[in-house]
Amino acid sequence: MSSPLTERLRAGTVLGAEGYVFELERRGYIKAGPFVPEVVLDFPDAVRELHREFLRAGAEVMVALTYYAHRDKLRDVGREGDLEAMNRQAVRIAREVAREAGAVAREGGADGDADGGALVAGNVCNTWAYDPSDPSTRDAVRAMYAEQLGWAAEEGVDFVISETNDYLGEALIALEVIQGLGLPAMVTLAPTQPDLTRDGYEYADACRILAAEGAAIVGLNCDRGPQTMLPLIARIRELVPCAVAVQPVPYRTNQTAPTMQALHGPDEVRAFPVALDPFTCTRFEMAQFAIRARELGVDYIGICCGAGPHHIRAMAEALGRDVPASRYSPSIELHPMFRAEVSAKDAAFLDSWTG
Ligand SMILES: [Zn+2]
Repeated sequence: MSSPLTERLRAGTVLGAEGYVFELERRGYIKAGPFVPEVVLDFPDAVRELHREFLRAGAEVMVALTYYAHRDKLRDVGREGDLEAMNRQAVRIAREVAREAGAVAREGGADGDADGGALVAGNVCNTWAYDPSDPSTRDAVRAMYAEQLGWAAEEGVDFVISETNDYLGEALIALEVIQGLGLPAMVTLAPTQPDLTRDGYEYADACRILAAEGAAIVGLNCDRGPQTMLPLIARIRELVPCAVAVQPVPYRTNQTAPTMQALHGPDEVRAFPVALDPFTCTRFEMAQFAIRARELGVDYIGICCGAGPHHIRAMAEALGRDVPASRYSPSIELHPMFRAEVSAKDAAFLDSWTG
């Protein structure tokens, strides 16, 4: 069945951008710990601006900031009464900026798409309420997804991203709710464990099942950096027939610390979630990741928690695109110290930098 999402996938690699929660936390608009996106109601301009920055950097999908905007989480922070308003407003903001795509592309002189628009995605995530050994939790999870996504569908989304799923079982509930609304689904798992989902399925096998149940895109997001996520995604790409998504965190995870939660600073203090800065990948590392992911045949390439617009722009350019923010991409040769001809005075400066 054709949809704006399938058309976009047919046209080539889709570049996504996420990590709204981490970035808005750094900017002082979201509280680390609960990580509830109260910012959507309290500082909508901050959300609008970040969408716009990702858009200018080349993101083709504006993901509504409804991550953790579900009933249990809002109850935890005493804002259950704002549940509907928060979910609806998040989609409205994403739609509003997505429509700016044409204008932004012209401003930057980029080719842009013929229709000039970015896609809008609704968003749900793991609820922490699901327990495979307690069937009653299935109904609680389904009810939370149904209300969130019912509002998103009414406000108008092109597809829905269900992400950071720890359990295949919970992901299947999300998929069922999304399909019930007649929307395409992108369902991704959070690979926190070495090989298996929390309900015991090998990641690639869980993706195969999600694809068989009708997900348009399956894959992985969050927790792992490029180095430790790509081997898992290669296996998924081999096994599933549908489109595949990969959205790692831009942190230098490795064999010893395969997830960002396992990274520790020199003082052995856990870096997750607010001391990850020294592990951040450079824009060049993320550009390499984008190329590698495309070589593997991944269809939807993005970044999760920790992403900055500079990462997205570098990935877009690595994929051969000229995006609006490319207008301000580095021209280091114009730096006074790095010009072809450095004056004697500047050379003295350079000596003291490098010395
Ligand atoms: Zn994430």
